[in-house]
Parts: sequence; structure tokens; C-alpha cells
Amino acid sequence: MPEVKVSRLSKRFGGNAVLHDITFTIADGEFFTLLGPSGCGKSTTLACIAGLERPTSGSIAVGPATFVDSGTFVPPEGRNLGMVFQSYALWPHMTVAQNLAMPLKIRKVERRRQDELIAEALGKVGLAELKDRYPHQLSGGQQQRVALARALVYSPSVLLLDEPLSNLDAQLREQARAWLKRLQAELGITTVYVTHDQEEALALSDRIAVMSEGDMVQIGTPKEIYETPATARVAAFVGRCN
Ligand code: ADP
Ligand code: MG
Repeated sequence: MPEVKVSRLSKRFGGNAVLHDITFTIADGEFFTLLGPSGCGKSTTLACIAGLERPTSGSIAVGPATFVDSGTFVPPEGRNLGMVFQSYALWPHMTVAQNLAMPLKIRKVERRRQDELIAEALGKVGLAELKDRYPHQLSGGQQQRVALARALVYSPSVLLLDEPLSNLDAQLREQARAWLKRLQAELGITTVYVTHDQEEALALSDRIAVMSEGDMVQIGTPKEIYETPATARVAAFVGRCN
């Protein structure tokens, strides 16, 4: 089962260095959060893992597979990762079931098996009965769960979630956080989660990596980050001053 290894990852956009030598390892089944203020490089890190951005240097491996190093670049479709981004972008002209069928069709999964996998994935997020609805007939929270089901339907090795709750209002976000935690406990899928919300990170994560201006500042359990912040900056960011 996968262990995610990101080693000395750097990324520049033109003359702008946005990631400086980032290194971290995520254990199998771990819920690992990249936390930091807007613009610090969280999404770029996730996009490099997903294969949507090409790192300037460094390496990325999941389990035995090297996705990126000096001589290797595996494109996104070769990585079998599940992704949900901030704008969860369901296809508006397709029903929930059709949205979930898309990644299976691309993978040439047989029709009958598609129906089983779709039912299973919708069951996981508690929306089996909504499979024939269109996205506009769902609440924001439900759309977000469909997006998650669509990311889970082909059994990805790792789930990449970029601020998936940030479009929800405060109350829905609270609920979504609770079921995300429950789902994580049930599935135990290795998850890389991106947020700028300290509370969310502390509530959900096994470990948190705090980023600042393209640097990795501290990696630890929520308790470690909260109780023994490595720098004044981390302390200020997680809402505690020593
Ligand atoms: P975060 O997700 O933490 O808010 P990002 O990874 O989106 O941060 O962005 C980090 C930095 O990289 C920002 O300064 C942003 O403007 C820049 N950046 C991100 N994507 C691009 C891009 N495609 N082209 C140029 N600059 C980018
Ligand atoms: Mg971002």
C-alpha cells in the first residue's frame, strides 16, 4: 500500500520560486494536511503530486512507483490518484451517476461493473438515492460529496483534497468535516489535504505540515504543532503565542 514520498521538491513559475526544497513522507492510511496562509504553495505542491504541474526539481513517489525524478515524469492519468478541488465542478448536464461513470468509462471498466462501483461509491458518501439527480438539484454539501464519490469510484491509491470545504457555509462545513472524518476512519485511504483553516487541520489530521512562503516550516501531529510550535510564525498561525 502507498506511502507518499516527496523529496526536495522545488517549483518556479518563470522567475518566481514558489516551492523551495520541500520534503515530506506520508504513511499508508495517513490523513496528512498541508496548512498555511494563502499563496504559500499548498496547491502547487498538490498539483505536483497530481501531475498537473511539473516540478522544477525533486522527486515524487507513491509506493513502489516513481512519478517524478530527474529522468521521469508520469502524466496524471498514469498515477491513479483521486482528486477533489475547491470548485468541485461536477458536469452540470450529467446526472450524479453519469458524473461518476466518466472516470470509469475513461478506464474502460465494463458497464455492469460501472453500476456496481457507482452504487458503492455513492453509498460511501451516503447519497445512493440521489444518483439520478442533476448537480443543480443538489445542495452545495451534497455536490461536494458527489465530487468526493467521483474521486473514490475507481479506488485511487491516494486522495488529494484541495480546500474541498471552502465553498460551504460555516454550518455545512462543520457537518462536512464530521463525515469526512468518519469516512476517513472507515476507508483508511491515504489522504493529502490542503487547507488554510487551522481548526480544520487540527480536527481532521493525523499529521500537519505547516508551510510558509514556499518553505516547509514544521511537520507534526496536531498536538505537537499546537503545543510546541517550532517558530513564532507557526505559533501565530495556529493561534497560540508562546
Ligand atoms: P496556496 O494554494 O497555498 O494558496 P499556490 O500554490 O496556489 O498557494 O500559489 C503559490 C504561489 O505560486 C503564489 O504566489 C501563486 O501566485 C503562484 N502560482 C501558482 N500557480 C501559478 C501559475 N500557474 N503561474 C504562475 N504563478 C503561479
Ligand atoms: Mg490553494
